[in-house]
Amino acid sequence: MSSAALPPVSLAPKAQSLSPRDAFIRSQGLSTRSVRAGRAPDETTGAVVPPICQSTTFAQPGSRLHDGPTYSRVSNPTVSALEEALGALEETSPAVAFTSGMAAIAALVLATCAAGDELIVSEVAYGGTIRLCERILRPLGITTRYVDASDPTCIGAAIGPRTKLVLVETPANPTLDLADVAAIAAIARARGVLLAVDNTFLTPVGLRPLELGADVSVVSTTKYVDGHDATTGGAVTARDEDLLERLRIVRKTLGSIQSPFEAWLTLQGLKTLPFRFRLHAAHALEIARALEGHPRLRSVRHPGLRSFPQAALASRQHADGLHGGIITIDIDGDLAGTRSFLASLRLCTVAENLGATETLVTHPATMTHGDVPADLRHRAGISDSLVRISVGLEDPEDILADILSALEGSTLARVAS
Ligand code: PLP
Repeated sequence: MSSAALPPVSLAPKAQSLSPRDAFIRSQGLSTRSVRAGRAPDETTGAVVPPICQSTTFAQPGSRLHDGPTYSRVSNPTVSALEEALGALEETSPAVAFTSGMAAIAALVLATCAAGDELIVSEVAYGGTIRLCERILRPLGITTRYVDASDPTCIGAAIGPRTKLVLVETPANPTLDLADVAAIAAIARARGVLLAVDNTFLTPVGLRPLELGADVSVVSTTKYVDGHDATTGGAVTARDEDLLERLRIVRKTLGSIQSPFEAWLTLQGLKTLPFRFRLHAAHALEIARALEGHPRLRSVRHPGLRSFPQAALASRQHADGLHGGIITIDIDGDLAGTRSFLASLRLCTVAENLGATETLVTHPATMTHGDVPADLRHRAGISDSLVRISVGLEDPEDILADILSALEGSTLARVAS
């Protein structure tokens, strides 16, 4: 089903909740919103970059009638600025910002599920999300079913009477499998189940899940939104004001609100998000094309490649032909050969994280997905030779030369077929 088949969804926040400036900025283009939303010049000094509001507590003249910030575990003006900016990008109410992507996902589940409920998660998902489901939620009585989200009918078949939430990653970490958001949204809505999309890999620049019918969009701002390997953070956007309020209560109770300094740094990074994201995506596609067919690679995956199994969905679903900055390669070798490749890189950094200015190369089986139970890891196609490359903003020729020379220089032990 295409997004055109879904009824239009009104995403705009209640007009009266926005200041005239915020409403004006929200009427502008995506890049303008990235640079300006939530950031009016400081009223006292005129500072164009509003200063960090580094205060635990706030005076409350008139006590109970006070409707401003009270305490920074509940809300903080710098964090609110980030929330307005992220909401403006998704054209919905201000987001709810957390200390990390994982804190955001955990709050989402706690705000929507109770003991006895079930959630459905794409079987390819960030290892931390699966650890949350297995180590924390399952012992609390919230169970998870892992489903092939690249086939919407599998999601429909897995929804049961106790299912409250479907959470899919698209493109999924690390195989880049896509989920058809509009099709899954239609199924979830018909069954009365919430659909949340982890939009960390594409950000609102590349994918707008709420416009496609999802109820919730969650993003680890640690990645492209900050984009400089400087912070951890997460945010949830949604249209349902009651859900947003439940998220704020979970956050206030667990103490997982983003810090003012991290929010301020994230706002700085956000200014260049659309610009950076276009370059990340263009460089990744260029490098993926150059690597395709390399004799030491079993496969090269990027949603912009013609050979990508879901290329048609990618071009239908992703905004402006932007398919993200991640490439996944499968080295034609065993674990030792893959490690040798990683050790041979001289420019690209072997590290966790993605979406930042530096090209980061990750070995999911031993790093980001090391805690995922082996059977699920294999079902998800995360082999010992799979390598994730987050293409940074260095010159693409330099990144490519480094990867090619590591492929040539490493002692790739060929696996007997
Ligand atoms: N979602 C995805 C798709 C991720 O890749 C990650 C981290 O790698 C997270 C969520 C968790 O984000 P954070 O590291 O900010 O907690």
